[in-house]
Amino acid sequence: MKLGGLQRRCKALIRKLEIPSPFDVHTLIQSVAQRQGRPIQLMAIAMPAGSPCGLWISTASTDYIFYEKQASPLHQEHIIVHELGHLLCGHVRLTDVNNDITRRLMPTLSPNMIERVLQRTYYNTPEEKEAEMIASLILQGVHRSPSGLNQAVPEVDEAVRRVQRLLVD
Ligand SMILES: [Zn+2]
Repeated sequence: MKLGGLQRRCKALIRKLEIPSPFDVHTLIQSVAQRQGRPIQLMAIAMPAGSPCGLWISTASTDYIFYEKQASPLHQEHIIVHELGHLLCGHVRLTDVNNDITRRLMPTLSPNMIERVLQRTYYNTPEEKEAEMIASLILQGVHRSPSGLNQAVPEVDEAVRRVQRLLVD
């Protein structure tokens, strides 16, 4: 997919969102959940070493977004918005891949299971670029509350660099 088309598609998706101002990722997730009529559960867990920091799993009733609980708040925010990007784009749901895996992941998660699920997910694929583009576009445009996060946001810069790297590969 050409960059222009990708960017246009992502921007169109983002325009439909109600981005809270000042930005709050939990409020954003709630508004998406409300719009889609399905709950989205945010789950902070210890992701296995060497795995990505986030994971989206869709079950019959609920979407789950897992994120690394050890990550800094800004990094967690980025992980969550990235996984939200997958959800918004309607990328392949893990339930479609293997229902059994999802069932075994829920409600208790074993790191081994997560690892196996993650092996099935795509790296450097159009889906990853799209989710990363959405995360970057959302986070670039947000207004931070004056109480803290508005000044230096090196991790957002890092996110932008990551997406740029992805796009030139
Ligand atoms: Zn991803």
